[in-house]
Amino acid sequence: MCIICVEFQSKKMSPIEALRNVAEMKNNIGEEHAKEVVKMLFSDAIKGRRTRPDVESEEDWKYGSD
Ligand SMILES: [Zn+2]
Repeated sequence: MCIICVEFQSKKMSPIEALRNVAEMKNNIGEEHAKEVVKMLFSDAIKGRRTRPDVESEEDWKYGSD
């Protein structure tokens, strides 16, 4: 855990800001943790996409095919 994890998980930082900070703070947080943070950002982005409202259009398509 570092400031980026804390800020991102408390929604104070957007994924893009977090990515930028990872690049800037790589030397401070360490390369290994930088990789962990990037992984976290990506998995969070994938999860976020699933719950986004535009996913509903896929549901409409499913109903429409009936
Ligand atoms: Zn961290």
